[in-house]
Amino acid sequence: MKSQYQNIVNTPRQQPQKYQRSFSQIFVNEENTFQQKGLGLLVAATISATYFLAMPYIGKEYIWPRFLELDDYLQWPKWKMYFVISMIFTLTFIPFANFVYYLIYHFELPFFEQYKVTATPWPWQENKEEWNKLLTKAFKLYFFNYYIVVPIGYFYDVYDSGFDPKFRFDLESFPTTTEIFSQVCIMMLVEDFSFYFIHWFMHNRYIYPYVHKRHHEFRVNVACCFNYFHPIDLFLEGMLPTAIGHAILGKRMHYYTYFCWYIFRVLESMDGHSGYEFPWSPFRLIPFSGSSTYHDFHHSNNIGNFCSFFTFWDTVFGTNSTFYAYQDRLKKEKALQENKTPGGGHSIQQQTGDVKSSKID
Ligand SMILES: [Zn+2]
Ligand SMILES: [Zn+2]
Repeated sequence: MKSQYQNIVNTPRQQPQKYQRSFSQIFVNEENTFQQKGLGLLVAATISATYFLAMPYIGKEYIWPRFLELDDYLQWPKWKMYFVISMIFTLTFIPFANFVYYLIYHFELPFFEQYKVTATPWPWQENKEEWNKLLTKAFKLYFFNYYIVVPIGYFYDVYDSGFDPKFRFDLESFPTTTEIFSQVCIMMLVEDFSFYFIHWFMHNRYIYPYVHKRHHEFRVNVACCFNYFHPIDLFLEGMLPTAIGHAILGKRMHYYTYFCWYIFRVLESMDGHSGYEFPWSPFRLIPFSGSSTYHDFHHSNNIGNFCSFFTFWDTVFGTNSTFYAYQDRLKKEKALQENKTPGGGHSIQQQTGDVKSSKID
């Protein structure tokens, strides 16, 4: 499968081009990103506010009383309840979220397709046979990972906690909006920091071919590839960074907050892999956040852009310089075309589909 960026860079070993952005450029970029979203920003803000206001209310009034009733009825130890409920949630929520994205891809509605990150056709449009092979592999790996690796991970967590899960479970100390929001922010910062370094390490030339390469078999991003990982990768890049924040917070975290964080993490990752740059994405409200375009560049080029939530570690270590050099090149080409073409130029999306003219070397 040819990538739109393939003639720019195509090996994990290639060094990023030196391209320094000044402090002011970084802030101008950030401002432009927000401006481009227009009214989408309002929708994103509404979704975010609704999530953090509704989740504590629904949880306290409807979900947690039922959870405690079930707990009373079953009389299981807390670790067993934690293990079983976490597994049931993981095995239902992720397939459900994948199904929603499947519907979006399946119907190819112009309303969604206009936000496609690149002009490259979807992989199933380009080569149906290859796509079916990849999908079959993805399904097999999914079942192995989520029915064997994930239960082992949860059980290890239970064992490590001395069969006393480090969560609050009661209704009296049910978390408020402020607590859920602040703890999700902490989890996000910790996840991003650990994910960045683990991901960077996974691109080491001696490790990459044996582990992380599997995730990069998807060169055009599609939501389901967010959980297409080698089992070691799933543990190191998926489960570990997601859980480290909780290890720090311990029993200051309610079990319900963990679900709020888990939903947030999974949906952000799916959004980042979706191949769509939806202006209403609540995750793009996060200051200095990555984006679907940002992570798509990582998959297409196999170079830089290692972060999950934020871009600042990439900026500090210069691992997003090739991406920004490419973005600047596109902007300059767009401006040139607009000057040359009477009556206007072409969209960025059209241009990214024609990389021969956008080569960085
Ligand atoms: Zn990678
Ligand atoms: Zn990825």
